[in-house]
Amino acid sequence: MKILVINAGSSSLKYQLIDMENESVVAKGACERIAIEGSKLEHKVGDKCVVVEQYMPDHTAALQLVLNALTDKEHGAVKSVDEIGAVGHRILHSAEDFKGTVLVTDETIAICEKNTPLGPLHMPANIACVKACREILKGKPMGMVFDTAFHSTMPKKAYMYGVPYDAYTNWQVRKYGFHGTSHKYVSGEARKYLGRDDVKIVTCHLGNGSSLAAVKDGLCVDTSMGFTPSEGLVMGTRSGDIDPAVIEYIMDKSGMDIHQTLNYLNKKSGVLGISGVSSDFRDLAKAAGEGNERAALALDMFAYRVQKYIGAFAAAMGGLDCIVFTGGIGENDKKMRERIMNGLDFLGANFDKEKNENAPRGTIAELNDGGKVKILVIPTNEELVIARETLALL
Ligand code: AMP
Repeated sequence: MKILVINAGSSSLKYQLIDMENESVVAKGACERIAIEGSKLEHKVGDKCVVVEQYMPDHTAALQLVLNALTDKEHGAVKSVDEIGAVGHRILHSAEDFKGTVLVTDETIAICEKNTPLGPLHMPANIACVKACREILKGKPMGMVFDTAFHSTMPKKAYMYGVPYDAYTNWQVRKYGFHGTSHKYVSGEARKYLGRDDVKIVTCHLGNGSSLAAVKDGLCVDTSMGFTPSEGLVMGTRSGDIDPAVIEYIMDKSGMDIHQTLNYLNKKSGVLGISGVSSDFRDLAKAAGEGNERAALALDMFAYRVQKYIGAFAAAMGGLDCIVFTGGIGENDKKMRERIMNGLDFLGANFDKEKNENAPRGTIAELNDGGKVKILVIPTNEELVIARETLALL
């Protein structure tokens, strides 16, 4: 069976068509700038890449363009949409309503709509795509895979904030965590690699958005992102953990309103804000190498925050067996892996610089020289998790 995986952002729609016989990607692509001037679709089948520049007023129009591309006579991947057996949707937020993947029904859509205020940027796009798919691909079974669901096993002491309890009962204020499909996939691969289930793993998903998860015996017990993805690590453009008093202080000093201030903390902060150079770690490494002190500081701050969370999560689990690096930075940035591991040998992690330097890309690599703690690079594959979970539902 072929499963279409849909990952919708507020102005984007990424997709993959996966053949579940051998879990191979048949076609993939992305629509960008939906409802913004200059929208385009980039569609790839094998080595072929087709770009369609056409205005897409909404996610329904984007989806129709994707289905046209997938069934196109010249650069399509299937003869007709009948060959698509099911659709798996990535959905940002499950709140406390779902602990795993669910089928798309009137009822599950209504629950997602109720939870829109918890993800006001992504949830409307996610739901719009689910509805558009239902309309265009009538009768096709569909699954909703939630970014937060893997973290639903956190104990209450980990997910509660130290604010009046009513904020939780009345307004659902708590830590939810994100990047769940990635943490689930790489921790599962790590357990397979180690050949054991009873392991304490810290998974480090380091990309433009970054988060860590503490995964004990296969279950998430803590994670660095919170009520929203703003909490935790210093990221590409997000501040991560910050004293809430800073918000009022910045508003007073700058004259910005609350929306502008949150935009400042989410879009203009992180390593971009510190360095003034870029949110991309390749640019930062280049600038730091040329003597830019703020770029060097940004890299130091990023590594330091990751180190602190690894230490905290080892304490939370009462030990550590494995550290996993994944995401654009975790998989590719050898220097950053070295920076992070430098000083963590007290945990029993013997980082091997040579293995790190020569680690092959696109496959699992082991970076430790003996030691109690395995250090692994595992390429993430969120789309495959979504496709597998959708198939399992059926
Ligand atoms: P992601 O959000 O997981 O796609 O990660 C994207 C980020 O990974 C980029 O912004 C870069 O900072 C980083 N990245 C990707 N490739 C490399 C590389 N070869 N070296 C360093 N950083 C990289």
